[in-house]
Parts: sequence; C-alpha cells; structure tokens
Amino acid sequence: SYLDRIEKIEDNIEAFITLDREEALKAAEEVDRKIENGDKVGVLAGIPIAIKDNISTSGLKTTCGSKMLENYIPPYDATVIENIKKEDGIIIGKTNMDEFAMGSSTETSYFKTTKNPYDLNKVSGGSSGGSAAAIAACEVPLALGSETGGSVRQPASFCGVVGLKPTYGLVSRYGVVSYASSLDQVGPLAKDVEGIALLLNAITGYDEKDSTSIKKDKVDYLKALDEDIKGMKIGLPKEYFSENVDEKVKGKILEAVEVLKGLGAEVEEISLPYTEYALACYYIVANGEASSNLSRFDGVNFGYRTDDYSNLEELYTNTRSEGFGEEVKRRIMVGTYVLSSGYYDEYYKKAQQVRTLIKNDFKKTFEKYDIILAPTSPILPFNIGDKIEDPLSMYMSDVLTVSVNLAGVCALSVPCGYVEGLPVGLQIIGDSFEEEKILKLAYNYE
Ligand code: GLN
Repeated sequence: SYLDRIEKIEDNIEAFITLDREEALKAAEEVDRKIENGDKVGVLAGIPIAIKDNISTSGLKTTCGSKMLENYIPPYDATVIENIKKEDGIIIGKTNMDEFAMGSSTETSYFKTTKNPYDLNKVSGGSSGGSAAAIAACEVPLALGSETGGSVRQPASFCGVVGLKPTYGLVSRYGVVSYASSLDQVGPLAKDVEGIALLLNAITGYDEKDSTSIKKDKVDYLKALDEDIKGMKIGLPKEYFSENVDEKVKGKILEAVEVLKGLGAEVEEISLPYTEYALACYYIVANGEASSNLSRFDGVNFGYRTDDYSNLEELYTNTRSEGFGEEVKRRIMVGTYVLSSGYYDEYYKKAQQVRTLIKNDFKKTFEKYDIILAPTSPILPFNIGDKIEDPLSMYMSDVLTVSVNLAGVCALSVPCGYVEGLPVGLQIIGDSFEEEKILKLAYNYE
C-alpha cells in the first residue's frame, strides 16, 4: 500500500532519488513467510523505511544528491542499514538531499528539489528534505536522515514530522558518506515520537567499525515514553528567542511551553552566551572537514570521471569541476582556505576554541536543567528559489540548530502547531546520552 501511495503522489513531492520496488516487495514477502512459519521477527518487521541517499546500501545506488556519485553502487551496507535489516525493516528507497548534505532546502541536489507536502511551492527543508517530505506525504512511516548541522531537525520542522539528532557517537557512522566527521550523525524521522523511539532502538549500539562509536549498554527508548514529566526543569535560552526569530514562530513555541507547564514542568529563562558565534564557528569547522573529506572524489577511485583529460592533473581538475555543484565547490574553497597554513590559526583553530566555549555553555546549563527548549527554525518554510542565490541567508536559517552539533549533545524537533497553514517545530535539547529524557518530554507533549 505504501508503494501505491508513492506511485500516486511522488510526482508532486519528488522525495525519492531511487525506489527499490522489487527488492522491497521481496523483503516484505520474506517477512510474511517468517510470520507464517511462526519464526521470530524483528521489531521493524514489514515496516517500509526510506533512507537518505548518503547512507550506503549494498547493491542500491547511493548518490549523495551529486552528479559525482550518480551511478555509484556501494558494495556493502552501512551499519545502520544492517541493523534495520536485522530487525526485518524494509528498505523501500533512497531519498533526495542537498548535494553531499550541504544545504537547508534540498535545492542543491543535482537531481531535483523536494517539495513541501504542506505547500508545493515551499521547500521541504534540508538537507534530509526527501526523508522528511516522504513521511509527511505518507509515502513511508519511518525514515533515516543525517545531521551535520540541523539536517534532520530543520526538515522535520518544515514538514511537520518528528526528527531526532542523536548524541555524537550513539549511532554508527560506518558506511555514511562523510561531510564533516566530527559533526555527522545519522538520525531517525517519523510521524510521531513512538516511531522515533522504535527506529532508534534498532539503529543504536556500539560498532567497532566506527572509531567514534561509544561503548554503552543498549537502552529501550520505548520504555521511557510512559513516564510523566512532573518537576522536569526546563531552560528557555534567551538567545534562541531573539529579534531574528519570526514572532509567529515564537508564539507557537511559547504556547507549547504553557502546555508543558501544565504537565508539571518547571520553566525558567536561561542564557547560552556563546550562541552568537555558533554559526560562524560551524561553517568554519564543517567546511574545513568537508574540504578534506571530499578530496577522495578525484575521478580515480570511484564515482564520476571526466572524459576530457590528457594528464593526471587535468583528470582531477576536470572531474571535480564537472562532478561537483556550485555549493559544494564553494565549501571546498572556503574549507581549504581556513585550513591553509597562515590562516589555520586565525580561522580553524579559533573556531575549535569557540566550539569548546559553546560546549561549555551546554555543560553548565545541564548541571541545573534537564532540558533546553527552543524553536527548531527561526523562520517558516520558505519559497523554492528564495534563498538559493543567497548562500549567507541560507546559512542563517541554521542558526538555531548548529550549536547542538558543535556540542555533540542530542536534540529533537516535534511539531507544535501551524502558522499560515505551515508547520512549526519545537526543539527539545538534552545533554549527551539523554535521549530518553527528550523523547519522554516530546511524547508527553505530543
Ligand atoms: N544546512 C547545514 C549545512 O548546510 C546543515 C547540513 C547538515 O546538517 N547536513 O551545512
């Protein structure tokens, strides 16, 4: 029935880059067979799941939204995909994204722009816009996205669905095409908080193939949902309610705060003073790491190769000139600049120092508070075409999400109403490995 739904609506939404109908049906039949035989099935048995196209799927194209990897078929599954298959989930297809996850609207995708199901003239957010829109349009019940600086939470907010950015190290990055390795993390998207907990249960766990994976006992995130939130201490950071945040968005967040107070939460205003440096810090760190990670796309090892070369230098140059889009090139240029000798101390090193200060802001706050609440996005979903020619204004839309990635903590976006028919997302931020707390709060709110 999900394939039928996709058939019916996908031309309007354009959430997918690749659909895997036959394999999905085969996998579903296999689950049926297991059930008929009375065999044990996993917690995701028979559930169709859409996967962002920067997560490697064995035998299934993984393009990263780029011409560079247009025809790239990975020979292995990412650990998160292995985990989903182990639990009998069905991989139904690969979703559209900003090229190499660089963007906030899916407009930098080489293939297409995903439309916001609430208004087809608006962006779905990004970079995991395909995954968020697929859920909002009922094409799938669950999806995976990835975050470097808000790419799960912001499209979740724009499309009126739930999205989680897990603590750095909780979910394996093995097989996820790197953007900025110290920030990247795979995250689940779903219609509701229960769906997030279910998918998170399946994808978490130590992975020896990822050197940043954390050894921790496995938690059942579904269990935490039923507890109440009486006495929970919540901080509202004044920097996240500045004049740059749309008044109507703020209004919806403050309504949600009243609901949480009614449920017994204690709410106070707090300050995260280094917030104002977060965006600059993020774009230096992220671009620096990206310029290094993307150096592997050279036309030699895998992916696109130019036809037009007579020596090695030209092979590299022409492959990269033809294979990467404008935004990716911009970031490689900026990243190379901030890492270059002479500028490293001034930019990259300084950004790393500021990153520590931002981290400390969170650390201090979580000594006193359980949760930080904020809007996910300062603005409502914007029109397709509005920001794509103005990179700085696109970057500005990430101002409320990037600090979480820099600090490595966890955060979730849950829908909290509509303004002018467009969804607004409430951002619930928790300390490292406090996913249970933010899920519990979100579930009580929902
Ligand atoms: N919009 C941000 C960027 O372009 C975040 C992207 C992401 O989280 N992958 O870098």
